[in-house]
Amino acid sequence: MRYTVTLQEKHHSALKKHWIRKDGNERVAFIICGRSLIDSKEDRFLSKEVVLLPTEQLLASQPEQVSWDNNFFINVLKKAETKGFAVIVIHNHPSGYNQFSKTDDEGEYHLFKLAFNRNGGDRPHASLIMMPDGSLIGRVWRTNLTHHPIELIRVIGESLKLWYPNKLKNFNSPEAFNRQQLAFGSALVQDLSKITCTIVGAGATGSATAILLTRLGVGEINIIDKDTIEESNLNRLHGATRKDIGKDKVEVLKKHIIDIGLGTKVNVVTSWVSSKKGIEFLKTSDIIFGCTDDNMGRILLNRFAYFYLTPVIDMGLIISVKNNPPEIQDLQGRISFLFPGNDCLITKGVINMDMAYAENLKRNEPENYKKLKEEAYVIGEGNPAPAVVTFTTQIASMAVNDFLNRLSNFNPSGKRAHKIYFFHRDTELSPGNIKENDCRICGNSMYWGRGDMKPFLDMVL
Ligand SMILES: [Zn+2]
Repeated sequence: MRYTVTLQEKHHSALKKHWIRKDGNERVAFIICGRSLIDSKEDRFLSKEVVLLPTEQLLASQPEQVSWDNNFFINVLKKAETKGFAVIVIHNHPSGYNQFSKTDDEGEYHLFKLAFNRNGGDRPHASLIMMPDGSLIGRVWRTNLTHHPIELIRVIGESLKLWYPNKLKNFNSPEAFNRQQLAFGSALVQDLSKITCTIVGAGATGSATAILLTRLGVGEINIIDKDTIEESNLNRLHGATRKDIGKDKVEVLKKHIIDIGLGTKVNVVTSWVSSKKGIEFLKTSDIIFGCTDDNMGRILLNRFAYFYLTPVIDMGLIISVKNNPPEIQDLQGRISFLFPGNDCLITKGVINMDMAYAENLKRNEPENYKKLKEEAYVIGEGNPAPAVVTFTTQIASMAVNDFLNRLSNFNPSGKRAHKIYFFHRDTELSPGNIKENDCRICGNSMYWGRGDMKPFLDMVL
């Protein structure tokens, strides 16, 4: 079992501010967390709410020790108990000592004993230490009061930051990434090697995204697509040849990535994103690329980003033509960074809800769909959409560059939520967040970091 933590960037900033006092003493805070579990693979903590311990509650605060009234902690436990949330106890080490001290061991033992006695449950809680530079180390506490190191801590918002044990200690960038290291340094090469990406859709944009992430040195890639390769895909599918017609898109792409030989770990599934394996891929990712045209799939990814604090970079291309002879009316690509704080795809009107309804009906009640379609009550698929490899590949490149920028910060002002490029006019638009947003997903924080619940994503299908 791998233990990881995801903190919303705004929570990390609030904590960092809490520690900065002139006295240089230790201080404490609590983070109430949603949970995400994939059995025997990953147990993830998702920050929902930060509770800072007020100075007047401190019984003692010195540079290497802190103590406080347990009643405050009991109130935090009460709050977490109602929905089975986890509690993270976090304090700072003003000296920068980046290990748990003996005092920490003793203090936390009693604290988590109290937590398990009071709240019960068989799921772990956790503790973190923040250093003056904002870096973090952590461990989980299990019901038997043993502790276990946290393998990965993500801070996610406009930027993506990662902490893990041994970061930059003895890291040798592989020869294949030397030229990239010359641009961005070895820290980025190392971070990329720790990252798991999921690509939803292995078509034109998805296959391009997969190859780009492979060559950047991403450690692990999951790919989801249920389709097989047709001859009409060969104009835009990276990694596919004529010999692959009839084979599963994901299998062909997997073989191509392994043949590149950079040591990338690849997992694939031939199914919808909503399948059990598809959800497992999403829940064990650090970032997700939405490369699907399927509206139902987009609805799921759109909710997932906010519930599970896992950013989704969604992309799409629209080519519309006036026919005979074809004349371009619109040629636009879009990338969207979905995460708490940004408007979601529904708020931005990207998802066609009528199409989503029709797709869902077709999948789950094919007879009923046929009947309603004949009676013209639902929208059916139209003619095949135009597709050109240069534009699908450019959109994939833009999406992967957006990810790279959020990790390496090469363009600090470029981290906009939504970007639309009009290729036929050579212009770009970045629609900002709307005001007075009453969307249940992006308009309030109720679901942000909610994690596992029944029904999944609070979604009734
Ligand atoms: Zn929304």
